[in-house]
Amino acid sequence: MKFVASSASLLISVGLSNLSPSLAFNCRRTSAIIGRFTSTKRYHAATMMTRSDSSSTSLLSSSNNNSNSNEETVPSPSLTYTPISSISPLITEARTSYATHFTHPYQFRLAQLDGIERLIRDNYSALSKTINLDLGQGSMYAEAFELTGMLGRISYAKSNLRQWMTTQSVPTPFPVNLNMPVHSQLTPYPRGVALIISPWNLPITLTLTPLLEAIAAGNVCVLKMSEKCVHTTSLLTELLSSGKYLDQRVVKVVNGEAEEATELLRHRFDVVSYTGGEKVGRIVNEAAAKHLTPTLLELGGKNPVFVTKNADIACAAMRIAWGKVTGNAGQLCISPDYCLVEESVKEEFVEALCKAMDEFYPVSSYSGNNGDDNSRGDVGKMISVEHAERVVSMVDSTCNVIYGGKHHDTKERFVAPTIVEATADSTVMKDEIFGPILAIVTVPDLDSAIEYVQTNFSSKGKHPLNLYLFTKSKKEQQQIMNAIPSGTCAVNDVIKHSANYYVPFGGIGTSGLGAYYGKFGFDFFSHYRGSLLVKNHSTSKLDPAVWMQFPPYNDKKIFAFRSLSKLPLIFGPLKRIAPVAKVLLPVALGGLLFWAGIMVERLKYFG
Ligand code: NAD
Repeated sequence: MKFVASSASLLISVGLSNLSPSLAFNCRRTSAIIGRFTSTKRYHAATMMTRSDSSSTSLLSSSNNNSNSNEETVPSPSLTYTPISSISPLITEARTSYATHFTHPYQFRLAQLDGIERLIRDNYSALSKTINLDLGQGSMYAEAFELTGMLGRISYAKSNLRQWMTTQSVPTPFPVNLNMPVHSQLTPYPRGVALIISPWNLPITLTLTPLLEAIAAGNVCVLKMSEKCVHTTSLLTELLSSGKYLDQRVVKVVNGEAEEATELLRHRFDVVSYTGGEKVGRIVNEAAAKHLTPTLLELGGKNPVFVTKNADIACAAMRIAWGKVTGNAGQLCISPDYCLVEESVKEEFVEALCKAMDEFYPVSSYSGNNGDDNSRGDVGKMISVEHAERVVSMVDSTCNVIYGGKHHDTKERFVAPTIVEATADSTVMKDEIFGPILAIVTVPDLDSAIEYVQTNFSSKGKHPLNLYLFTKSKKEQQQIMNAIPSGTCAVNDVIKHSANYYVPFGGIGTSGLGAYYGKFGFDFFSHYRGSLLVKNHSTSKLDPAVWMQFPPYNDKKIFAFRSLSKLPLIFGPLKRIAPVAKVLLPVALGGLLFWAGIMVERLKYFG
């Protein structure tokens, strides 16, 4: 591990020293936009960094994930917001360059995917460091949740890109096939200029995944990352705009807050992808609808975890405790939000859960989150002081704290892992928690647990993004999955399902619209154009198809049309017996030849 880390650091220090100093400079806020400094400053001021040099250098030059290094003081970057007045020209530029269709060829797209891969490999430690600075997470988290997964997605897209781009032949049914010979095909066509708005909570994956898939599909992208994860956004801005990894025409970065995003949304895009909260999701959807733009909304909500009496309780407790806290201190759209536990196993479950919390996240490990030991960071930090305060305030007199609840340090953005007992009326059950607090709701049996979710959430369209269930009973698994609609589902585990790019990821109801990941992402960012290719140029009325198609119509034509329309009814069942016919036909032919041979032989006797 040490070897890998130090090699990566070496690569970075060599690779990054080539970057133009002016780029680093450009990423710093200039005096012209000083008016907006205060709001951004709020976020990086909260990261507890000490400045070793007030003339602050680029994040890259100090990238080093070695906790023993003396270079712990990473200068605070500042995020240059894109001036509002330059957003419109930037979109026009994206549109003009897309119109040349330079993104269409396979080789071009592949080179861009290679570029994203190099971007991650060359800057592995620096990216891991920014995750630590923004979210207080250690390198194990950054690698497992962000970097390794991203490399897997890129490699999967690269190996499948040619096949995804291939035009597929499809059948041509009656009466479309009357002009034989005809051919039907399906071709993925880029949508054009894509707007991608990404959040702060998995800033690398949730930025680079839609970007990767939009580029694979041949689009030009305008990217708006979150202003809250200032270190990661600064670094990604620098890398994506450097021209070192991606063709600069393919991605245009716009930085800013709601104001810049609103300006972006005034314009027409050909496709929009938004990941973030529901409230802004509605704004984005409304703005996109004005231009009839297809929109992918990756939103959130409360993810229930069913723990039935047939669950392996110790295993469930370990996995839930891990998923709740390691998963970015609960700041993931896939975080377990609340557990519905059957009364008969509640005590055993709570005991196992507290034991797991103590074992994985002892109070002594909290110090690792105060910036003095970057290699730990087992319990991450909240993204901002405001968010930490919001999460802590959810634990009020409406619930009963059964684990933790102390040691919060909201000024340092730290919320300690906490377990509370709640009811439907508890504050903690009103909104997505998005922090390391787990709510436990006790239910008499499985039917009541299902009813709880249906009454409080499903009936209002608040379908969970993720449904988690812990039970060894297949019958119970089926019962829960049938009763509760959800974007995705994991049985006897949490979180990990979302890293599988062979299945689509996306919500349902208030948790989202559409899905992406791998081929599903490529499909979302493509328009599948169906085409009919007719090679027959006949105009002769002796051609039955011509005679029948064109007026004046009469009874004969109607009769002919009706008769032909019945052919699929005959050929349909024939198709079904085709596999059997394939075997029987040679046997029958062989038999026929054999019989013919005998007959020829016998003909002699008739002479
Ligand atoms: P956020 O604050 O980072 O916002 C997301 C993006 O929206 C940012 O780039 C932000 O600048 C932009 N934005 C802010 N105001 C805007 C406006 N008026 N118009 C357009 N864009 C605007 O993220 P957040 O909302 O705090 O994210 C947390 C939520 O996101 C949670 O609910 C979580 O469950 C959800 N989420 C969902 C997924 C998913 O894949 N389904 C992934 C991550 C997070």
